[in-house]
Amino acid sequence: MKTHSSTICAIATPPGQGGVGIVRISGPDAESILRVLCPSLPSAIPSHKLILAKVKEPGTDEVLDEVLVALMKAPRSYTGEDVAEIHGHGGALNMKRLLEAVCRAGATPAGPGEFTQRAFLLGRMDLTQAEAVADIIDASHTAALKLAQQHLAGHLGQTITELHEALIRAIILTESAIDFSTEEHIYQLDTEDLLRRIDGVQHRIDQLLGTYDAGRQIREGIRVVILGRPNAGKSTLFNHLCGEPRAIVTEIPGTTRDYLEERVLLDGVALRLIDTAGLRDASDTVERIGVERSREQADQADLLLWVLDGSEPLALDSLEEEILKTSSASIFPILNKADLPTGLSHEDLEKIKTLAAREPSGVSLLSSQRPDALFAELAEVARKRLLPAQEGAVITRQRHRDALQRAREALLQAREATEDEMSHEFIALDLRLALEAFGEVVGRTTVDDLLNRIFSEFCIGK
Ligand code: GDP
Repeated sequence: MKTHSSTICAIATPPGQGGVGIVRISGPDAESILRVLCPSLPSAIPSHKLILAKVKEPGTDEVLDEVLVALMKAPRSYTGEDVAEIHGHGGALNMKRLLEAVCRAGATPAGPGEFTQRAFLLGRMDLTQAEAVADIIDASHTAALKLAQQHLAGHLGQTITELHEALIRAIILTESAIDFSTEEHIYQLDTEDLLRRIDGVQHRIDQLLGTYDAGRQIREGIRVVILGRPNAGKSTLFNHLCGEPRAIVTEIPGTTRDYLEERVLLDGVALRLIDTAGLRDASDTVERIGVERSREQADQADLLLWVLDGSEPLALDSLEEEILKTSSASIFPILNKADLPTGLSHEDLEKIKTLAAREPSGVSLLSSQRPDALFAELAEVARKRLLPAQEGAVITRQRHRDALQRAREALLQAREATEDEMSHEFIALDLRLALEAFGEVVGRTTVDDLLNRIFSEFCIGK
């Protein structure tokens, strides 16, 4: 088990004014730092109890704040180390002064996520739980919050751990057959049994992979990509949806060169909004990369917001047309600049309708007023793209999906090697690759696990 020699500290509550603000301290010196700051504390500080105390500037009698302090002794703490909390009055300046005093008493400022990282390294949580902490803090709607809380409770980690264990058993069977095959009593590998075990794990992987799209939608929101030709009004739409200027709006085509991303809650539907670079045959390299990114983003979208300048005749470029024709996303066409005379012919309108499989919505985004009617329509279309909620463990991140896909491929190889009666070493190698992929999801060192299990279950005696 790893331990850290440094003691870290940070303000755990949001910046600004509040009734209470908390400075959190974690590490071997947490208790002694608390004693330096609060000399009146009893000689034996009870763990997990709030105590009224005065924080004094170290080495002086100057009272900085009257506070409640709590000491959570290792290992029963968030990080698994000694953790102290100082609950002070929540003014920004007061918190800053308390934090500085904690640093003068011997703590060092924590880096981003360092408390949770320590919790993970000390085995207080697995990686899916550490991710869940970030997701809970980040959640903007109830479904995302609930899912993150399930992950924190260990639902996903537990499922992966069960699969991990099932695979370890399959590996033990295979590797034992290797180890003992030269002995007098030849240990035969029961291939039927092994195939059954592989299939069982494979089946669960497929189930988990099947939850990804719904899980991603809940965690991130519906992926909405704004696309259209330069100057159509994409950035203006993005800013309206965000409720504040995020994208630069200019009259020079090609201003949005890469893409911008923002989370937006629209009538209760969580959207992950992406404003892309305009689609056109880009001449310079930077812009070309931007256009390529737009394409990648469009390929992964649930919903395409296709913005058109309604004051101009339809001028589709080939890339735009190809994306619209091949995308599996819903398309929501918006005819912008309705304040100007229309430039679209009847044929143009028919073409837009055919490509989008939907009547375009006319709007003028120039006004500073939020286009409420348009956004209500949009929320409805987005809501229809929401996949049904999944039962049981759900994966939410590409990282989970990639690792499970690798495990799946390795198991297919192991299956093939078993059926082809290949040497047991090959089968074991593939099974180990699958095990490593599972280990990645929860952040487990698979080799140690495997060795511990082998040594505890088999008396190898040599
Ligand atoms: P993008 O290149 O597609 O992101 O387009 P922008 O959002 O940057 O807008 C391009 C130009 O069109 C800017 O000068 C906007 O002010 C203008 N614009 C946007 N919406 C409207 C509209 O509804 N009517 C008019 N007349 N101009 C608009």
